Amino acid sequence: MTRDLVDPFGRVIRDLRISVTDRCNFRCTYCMDEEMTWLPRSEVLTFEEIERLARLLVDRYGLESVRLTGGEPTVRANLDRLVGSLAALSTEAGPIDVAMTTNGATLRLVGQRLFDAGLRRVNISLDTLDRDRFEAMTRRDELTRVLDGIAAAVEIGFDPVKINTVVQRGVNDDELVDLAAFGRDHGVEVRFIEWMPLDASGGWDSAAVVGQDEIVARIDEVFPLEPVPARGAAPADRWRYRDGRGSVGVIPSVTKPFCGDCDRVRLTADGQFRTCLFSTDESDLRAAMRRGETDDELAARIERAVGAKWAGHRINQVDFVRPRRSMSQIGG
Ligand code: SAM
Ligand code: SF4
Repeated sequence: MTRDLVDPFGRVIRDLRISVTDRCNFRCTYCMDEEMTWLPRSEVLTFEEIERLARLLVDRYGLESVRLTGGEPTVRANLDRLVGSLAALSTEAGPIDVAMTTNGATLRLVGQRLFDAGLRRVNISLDTLDRDRFEAMTRRDELTRVLDGIAAAVEIGFDPVKINTVVQRGVNDDELVDLAAFGRDHGVEVRFIEWMPLDASGGWDSAAVVGQDEIVARIDEVFPLEPVPARGAAPADRWRYRDGRGSVGVIPSVTKPFCGDCDRVRLTADGQFRTCLFSTDESDLRAAMRRGETDDELAARIERAVGAKWAGHRINQVDFVRPRRSMSQIGG
């Protein structure tokens, strides 16, 4: 028998984001610095430790979905082994849903193995269609490989394939319509993400955030849109193209926070349990596991942490405090 994991605001936890590594083959400027210090390998959770925590959350609390992220999840060796063990978990409603967020650069190489292991949904990051700009934004000349990774994902049969695009004013906001057109042409949903204050350099600037209303208005001028009702707990608000050629999403974390519907908890690569991207505290499940704590003891820690989940982040408030870790160290 499972029972719901409920926070003090009545939100039921259903989704687990697992960062499998803090390492990455890119250095996107809105996320990382050029020079990063990686976690020592001994501090990164083993697959067995990740699986134990995921199983506990699924078996006891009925979590329905898991998303692998990082850093770049595909740089972790033998990721298909972890996917296979997570895809084997199930609730009374059936197998859990296993998804991944990736920069896509190695999908042509590893995508089929991940699919065969049970991964079904991928979100691939793509912020620009211009090669020089891509290199400036990611500090890597890899646009061709990412575009090929997107094509590979569609060919392999991942469904849906979604594109994540972080929008920064003066950097790539002149490409909103081109990226929307890319999504329409390739049958993939583009989800524009408002830039959040989680970059490693601390260079985030609210003036560079392009808000949801502006994003939607600019696309609607060229490709008329109508809203898709009822987001539920998903972070993206969605619109469909009135001509029937697919849909587009916006994740308005800054201008219209969706904390009230948040059903997520997170596990960092070094085994810290977090109840919000912006949490300033975390629960050290790695240390607890390595001390030999039982599942009941781990569950008690998880329940205590969820019992302290806050109502929402405070990006727009004067008392906002950036978390100590940046996006790639938490797991976006
Ligand atoms: N490396 C993978 C990738 O880039 O898709 C997965 C990890 S990445 C941290 C997850 C998502 O967070 C990506 O879509 C990325 O664009 C997004 N992201 C990174 N830094 C961000 C920031 N400061 N604000 C908003 N989104 C960000
Ligand atoms: Fe790496 Fe993803 Fe961060 Fe880019 S956004 S640096 S690909 S973790």
